Order: sequence, then C-alpha cells, then structure tokens
Amino acid sequence: MKKRKIIIAIDGFSSTGKSTIAKELANKLGYLYVDTGAMYRAVTLYAMQQDFVGKGYINKEKLIENLQNIDLKFEYNQKLKFSEMYLNGKNVEKEIRSIEVSKLVSMVSAVPEVRKKLVEQQHKMGAEKGLVMDGRDIGTVVFPDAELKLFMTASPEKRAYRRYKELLDRGHEVTFEEILHNVEQRDHLDSTRKDSPLKKAPDAIEFDNSNMGLKEQFERIYHMALLRIEKNA
Ligand code: C5P
Repeated sequence: MKKRKIIIAIDGFSSTGKSTIAKELANKLGYLYVDTGAMYRAVTLYAMQQDFVGKGYINKEKLIENLQNIDLKFEYNQKLKFSEMYLNGKNVEKEIRSIEVSKLVSMVSAVPEVRKKLVEQQHKMGAEKGLVMDGRDIGTVVFPDAELKLFMTASPEKRAYRRYKELLDRGHEVTFEEILHNVEQRDHLDSTRKDSPLKKAPDAIEFDNSNMGLKEQFERIYHMALLRIEKNA
C-alpha cells in the first residue's frame, strides 16, 4: 500500500542546523524541502536594493506597496541537490546569506503584510503534503496541523560559531563577534515580534543540539519521521 505523505515542520532559533537536517530529511524521504528563511531573506534583499530598508530604518509603506513586484521562486539545482532562491528571475542564493541581509531580515519579517504574502505561498507548496519546511512559525502558524513538528535549539555561542564557519567557507568576510551579536539580536527580535513570533508549538518535539553531532541528530529525526509516516498510513 502506498504510504500517505505527511508535513514535517522544523522551527527554531537561527543557525541551529534546521536547514541541513530538513534538506537531508527531504532528500531521503523524496519530499519537497522549503527553506522559508530564504523567502524572508529574498524580500529583505529586494527592500535593500530599493532602499526601503537600511541600518536603523524601514519604510514599511513603500515595501507594502511594492510587495506585488516581488516574485519569489525556488529552482532545484541538480548538482547541489537543493532548491535555490530566485528573486525576480535572478539567482540570489549567495546574496541572501550575506551578513548585511542577516542584519536587516528580522525588521522586514516583522511586517504583517510581508508574512501574509509569504505564508500564502507556503500554504500552496504544502497543498500536496510530502513536505519538509523549516522556519520560525511553521508548526504554530503555517501548518499547525503538521504531522511532525520539531523545535531546534542550541546555545547562542555554538550557533554563532557554526554560522561563522559556514560564512567563511562561502567566502564572506565576517568576524565571530559580529555573528554572535547578529544571532542574539535576531533571537530577540524574532521571539518578541507581534505577528507570528518564534515559539515552540505545544506539540513540537524539542531538540537541543548544542552537544549533538549532525549524524546522530539526523538518525533520530529520520526515525521519528518514519514512525509518523507509518502511523499516518
Ligand atoms: O532561517 P533563517 O535564519 O535563514 O531566517 C532568516 C530570518 O527570516 C529569521 O531571523 C526571521 O526573522 C525570518 N523568518 C521568519 N519566519 C520564518 C522563517 C524566517 O520570520 N518562517
């Protein structure tokens, strides 16, 4: 009998390795993977290019007025085995990971109209199920009925160090202190915003991976997913 597909929601703090786990899980299950952080990052990049947002300011009216001009698409890269973000037809995968975008994204993602637009798109992607989606509000707001919900945490220092190494590997010029500050600031802004703040859904399983390797983590989560799929059949 063909197994019925489920939705797996992975939420948590910045740089907890959500996307690495989610990506691997989706590949192994043959599911679609959606990195919702990339969507908020792409809107932020657009707002920066138009000067709607910058250090210490955001022009919400202009941003909202121009939301209709933002076209976001994921396109699967066969070689890299994951979907890359396209903003108005241009591959922006590298630009959206920059520290400049990271510094401004929490201001942009707090705008309810931005969230509304992106959540609508996210709903469409999940219409057929068979989806692993990572973000901040997936288990609480986007798919409150997701069959499996995970909530990832780790100490700010561990997370900042991982992010720091990742960015250096990708050729970005950053300092550890700058990244730590950004991680802590985003934790605060994302958890205290009015619309869809980052919080653990009551039925989410919490994973503190400060001291857990990726392989062990993945094995545990994959096992949980298989059990959930089995139960759903
Ligand atoms: O996951 P990532 O760190 O790339 O997310 C970047 C930012 O996008 C977060 O700090 C948060 O402000 C925003 N975000 C959000 N809701 C989501 C995913 C990301 O507000 N579902």
